[in-house]
Amino acid sequence: MRKLFIFLLLFFLFAPAAAGTTVIIDPGHGSPDGGTVGLSGIPEKDYTMAIARDLDAFLGFMGIPRVLTRETDSGVYDGDALTIRQKKVSDLQNRLKLSLETEDPVFLSIHMNASPVSSAAGFQIFYAPSEGSYALGEKMNAVFSSSLPRTRIRPLSPAPKAVFLMRKLSCPALLMEYGYLSNPGESAKLDRASYRKKLAFLTACGLYTYLTNEG
Ligand SMILES: [Zn+2]
Repeated sequence: MRKLFIFLLLFFLFAPAAAGTTVIIDPGHGSPDGGTVGLSGIPEKDYTMAIARDLDAFLGFMGIPRVLTRETDSGVYDGDALTIRQKKVSDLQNRLKLSLETEDPVFLSIHMNASPVSSAAGFQIFYAPSEGSYALGEKMNAVFSSSLPRTRIRPLSPAPKAVFLMRKLSCPALLMEYGYLSNPGESAKLDRASYRKKLAFLTACGLYTYLTNEG
């Protein structure tokens, strides 16, 4: 990890990132939608926000423009959305709208996984059908595969059609599943700020590699 850090630090100092691209950091869920729940009782929405904040800081250090889809604990639904369902629909549409209002965006949706099978484990990236998503996913997966030897890295996969944002986004976009909150080992690791920071750092590295090698 230290060698990687020094290499990347030198890399960032000498290689300018692609100009004009803005990374949309999307912390999944937001009240009243908490997502799944970790074994320590923390809702997914809090893990996604913690990683988003760290990613925001690392990208800032690298000089990469970025914006968050939500800044607070709340989802980003309109005031006239009253039911849980209306709030969820409005929330997703507003996240999509941000991508349409952003020049040359790259969209990263941050989530944690869950399964009824407690042994299910691993990190997994899903790529959107939009142009550039697969290339971004490959770069990102390579960084995680080489830097998290004790974590199972599941194969890079196309995003399921049922995932609204991935289906609708027209920019390069990934759905990042950082681990299983239903798995005792992974849930405990995700509870640690240092581990979440590492995940955010690797995500920033993956993005940086993509943005500097796009052509
Ligand atoms: Zn989620």
